[in-house]
Amino acid sequence: MNFEGQFVLVTGGSRGIGRSIVEAFANAGATVGFVYNSNSAAADAVVKELTDKGKKVSAYQCDVADKVAVDALVEKLVGEWGRLDVLVNNAGIIKDGLLATMTFEDWNAVIATNLTSVFNFCQAVTRPMMSQRYGRIVNMSSVAAEFANAGQANYAASKGGIQGFTRCMATELARRNITVNAVAPGFIETDMTAAVRNAAEDEIKKRIPARRLGKPEDIANATLFLAAKESGYVTGQVLKVDGGLTLGGI
Ligand code: NAP
Repeated sequence: MNFEGQFVLVTGGSRGIGRSIVEAFANAGATVGFVYNSNSAAADAVVKELTDKGKKVSAYQCDVADKVAVDALVEKLVGEWGRLDVLVNNAGIIKDGLLATMTFEDWNAVIATNLTSVFNFCQAVTRPMMSQRYGRIVNMSSVAAEFANAGQANYAASKGGIQGFTRCMATELARRNITVNAVAPGFIETDMTAAVRNAAEDEIKKRIPARRLGKPEDIANATLFLAAKESGYVTGQVLKVDGGLTLGGI
């Protein structure tokens, strides 16, 4: 897939899945800006590694839950770039806990970072994408949206919310040549799943028909497919990338 001449914004691009998405777009010729929250060393390392290879990548500190900061960042980037072709809403966190003991702060933090952030960025990019009559938006959901995982009520609510939001946005924006889709990853090897993998990697693999965990590149490939110019007739969809985990077979 060729993204030469395109301008791409990725949230949570400093580590894990987001980092792989940044790399894939940069390798495909795009100019990429990515957002991180607190780990500036990780963000700087991504920028250095890719710019040393001649890629066009820059990092921006911005809390995705902060609407004022998001509006300012998108305005600045669109001002510099003159357009914005692709938005990937990837940033996300977990703060697991059973409902009986889950704090209001942990509920709010997960909803704000995972779901309100998608509203913030989609609203900020909608005007420039509508006026250029082109856009591709990919939102990172999760198979957890449909799993009944004890301890993940906040996370599942945020990821299910993303799926409903994605379908409504797709309908609102389709006539402007803007597609809005979601990717629902299964178990992917990143920092986010480190604790679960340490505790039960073999058990998890037995539940996955592909008999392996996913790699960040598996999600990056699906994201680039949905973000490609050629995918303009695909909108409002949730693409599961999970090695068959949710198929329900034995
Ligand atoms: P990760 O390795 O923990 O990386 C998270 C990224 O999000 C980091 O770049 C982090 O930046 C950024 N981030 C977190 N909070 C932020 C905030 N408030 N503002 C800006 N950036 C923020 O996570 P991952 O495993 O790659 O997951 C990426 C996405 O995929 C998430 O939405 C996650 O829910 C989803 N997902 C993951 C899996 C999986 O198995 N890993 C499965 C399904 C869905 P800092 O380091 O600076 O905080």
